[in-house]
Amino acid sequence: MLPEVQALVRLQDCDHAVTRLETELAELPKRLDALQKEVAAQTKSLATLEAKLKADESERRKLEGDVELHKSKIVKLKKQLNEAQNLTQTQALEHEITWAEQAIAKAEERELELLMEEEQLRADIAVAKGKLLAMQKNFEAERQQALARHKAGLAELASLAEQRKTTLATLTPQVTSVYERLRKKHKNGVVAVEVVNAQCQGCYMEIRLQLWQELRAHPSFLACENCGRILYIPSVTGFDPQFGPAPVQ
Ligand SMILES: [Zn+2]
Repeated sequence: MLPEVQALVRLQDCDHAVTRLETELAELPKRLDALQKEVAAQTKSLATLEAKLKADESERRKLEGDVELHKSKIVKLKKQLNEAQNLTQTQALEHEITWAEQAIAKAEERELELLMEEEQLRADIAVAKGKLLAMQKNFEAERQQALARHKAGLAELASLAEQRKTTLATLTPQVTSVYERLRKKHKNGVVAVEVVNAQCQGCYMEIRLQLWQELRAHPSFLACENCGRILYIPSVTGFDPQFGPAPVQ
């Protein structure tokens, strides 16, 4: 394999590593954002439960007050009933007492309903609080991990940039420009490809026998006639029954 082609493969590996790393680092804030949104949604649902509990408690306290009022009113009405002068007065007072008793029964029924609802809400709130705490802890752990990964990733990127610079320094401007041109053309960034069984591993087209033999015999700077990628054969060792002994590289 030509040293220049080796350098091209190194450069390509380096650029692939940079792309992978940049994609990974760009994903970090997105993941944190998603987690933060989940925490916010959980906080909101906890707040909704707490507000409902507060409203229920306040409604129940008001009902308790109403019941007390009705009860004292009944005491008063019963006293008046004892002192009633005629049937009309008696009937009117009795009617008022019945109404107050019915109001008490209705209020107490609602109080019971509210008590049961509050019990369920308290249990739900406890679960929601536990979940929120776990989510907050997880978010914090992920945030710390992301910060560490980001820092390490930046260091890796700096080291890759250094490697790239060193590799580029070994290439002629012509080869560099071929590389940059192919990199623009092939969006996946695969510029230098292996030839396996006379097939270009970039476009998977068979290469001409003459070209294949030339490449095996004399490692050189050859491009695939179909896709233009630089072709190479990784170090071949041993005896190949189809082609005889491997060329010295
Ligand atoms: Zn090709």
